This record gives sequence, structure tokens and C-alpha cells, in this order.
Amino acid sequence: MRDVEVLDLNFRNASQAIGAFLVKSSAGLILVETGPESTFSVLNSQVEALGYQLSDIRYVLLSHIHFDHAGAAWKLAQAGAQVYVHPVGLPHLASPDRLWNSASQIYGAENMGKLWGRMEPIPESAMTEASHGESFVFGDVSFTAWHTPGHASHHIAWEFEGGLFTGDVAGVKICGGPAVPPCPPPDIHMEAWKDSLQLIRKIAPSRLYLTHFGMIEMIEQHLDELEEAMDSWAMWIKAEFDNGTTVEDATPRFMEFTRAQMNSLGVSEAVQSLYEYANPSWMSVAGLMRYWKLKAQGRL
Ligand SMILES: [Zn+2]
Repeated sequence: MRDVEVLDLNFRNASQAIGAFLVKSSAGLILVETGPESTFSVLNSQVEALGYQLSDIRYVLLSHIHFDHAGAAWKLAQAGAQVYVHPVGLPHLASPDRLWNSASQIYGAENMGKLWGRMEPIPESAMTEASHGESFVFGDVSFTAWHTPGHASHHIAWEFEGGLFTGDVAGVKICGGPAVPPCPPPDIHMEAWKDSLQLIRKIAPSRLYLTHFGMIEMIEQHLDELEEAMDSWAMWIKAEFDNGTTVEDATPRFMEFTRAQMNSLGVSEAVQSLYEYANPSWMSVAGLMRYWKLKAQGRL
């Protein structure tokens, strides 16, 4: 398998919180994930440190349109890249106002610029929809898109020469800590997510590339661990939901619960704080509360 360069975007000065991946082809560079616009200058210098320029990036493949994965895609499109995205995600990148406004409600309008930078529309002609199972040839390499909902309805895992770029569907694992599920609102769907993990087991890649963060080779073990964490988090939040607890009240107790899990595995405080940057607890509480609410209403 050819080289995959793992780029660390140093999000909020934290290493291994958000990554992107660079693959060389005879048709130019392929960038998988872009990180947010707030780390664009870091992306730029990482690309230059490898001896390339941004304009050498001809193709950008996105796992999904959340800001930590796709927030800088418009900048790459401006520099001439073609952006490959799930059909459901494409209209949101073409007119990002709704995406931006709904994120502002989650993160607070005053925090948006600092966290994510800016977002501008991407012309539809600079984007290509990627269907489930569709392969794309870029010079001497090819990538296949697998629709993998659960974390987000518009999520793609990209298969490439026995490796799989998993975005968020294969969870977060940082510095040898545990595999955990990022569960932000509004799309969390545990059953769909489990089906996506089944699909990944069937594809049977030899390497996973996690945006948060890096390469995993013990794949079955990783996925087992992730499924266990999904069940444990979901059931913990279900008990809170059944008791009528608010997100605000549940969050500090959820943080105690996950801290105890991390401590029992010997994960250091420093690494625990990286997990919090990559996957904030309050977001997972909000996402899982919403999941249980929609289920109780018969809407999932
Ligand atoms: Zn993410």
C-alpha cells in the first residue's frame, strides 16, 4: 500500500485532536478531510513541509460535513480542488448558512469563529456526489465511497488500497486510549451506526485511519471496544433521559462517569483532555439525549 501522510492540524494547540490525510497519485494530491478553517494555516504549512503546495491538492474527499472534517473544504475548492461528498451533505456546502446557524446554536455564536474560522459557499461545479459503493479513479489510484450513517446521516468511509478512512464512524482513539463514539446532535442513530460497523467488518480493511486520530491496525479489537463504549454510553444516557434529567445536569455526571472509565484504563489527565477537545462530553450528552427522545417519540 502506498504512503498515507497523516497531518496533525494542532486544533486549539492540541496534538492528535484533529487530523487530515494526504495521498499522492499520478493525477495530483488527494486530501482526505480538511479540518476546520481555523486550522487552515497549519494544514498549509504541513503540506509545504512535505514539499508540496496547496494548489497541488486536486481532490478533496470528505467523510462528512461537520466543521472539524470539512470546514476548510471551500478554501481547497478555491485553490482549484474538486470536493467529493455525500449527496445529502453537498447542498449544505453549496449554501452553508443553515449549517453555520445550527452549529451556532450548539456552540454559541460568540465561539464559532474561534473554534471553526469561517465558511463560504462551494460552487456546485466544484463538488461531486459520491454514491454508496461508488469508486473514483484519480490517476493511478482509486477510492471507494461507503455510506456509513450513525454518527451523521451523511457519512462516508473512504476505502483505499486495503485502508479505510473512517471519519467518525469508527470512533475516536487518541494516544493509545480507549475507542469511544463521538455523539453530537442531531443525527445520532445507534442501530444505523452498528450496521455501519458491520459493513466495515465486511470490507475487512487492514488499516483504519481515524480523523481523531491516526492509524489503527488491530481492527476487530478496536471495533469491539467501540461497540462496547457505544452501548455503555447510550445506556448511561438512557437512564438520565428516563429520569427527565437535562443535558446541563447530566453533563458533569457523564464527565465523572467517563473519567472513571478512563482512569481505570490508566489514561493520563493530559490524554483525557485531548479526548475532550476532539469529542466534547456535553456534545455527546446532547446527541444521545436527542436520540432517546426521538426514539421515545417513535421518530427513529
Ligand atoms: Zn469529528
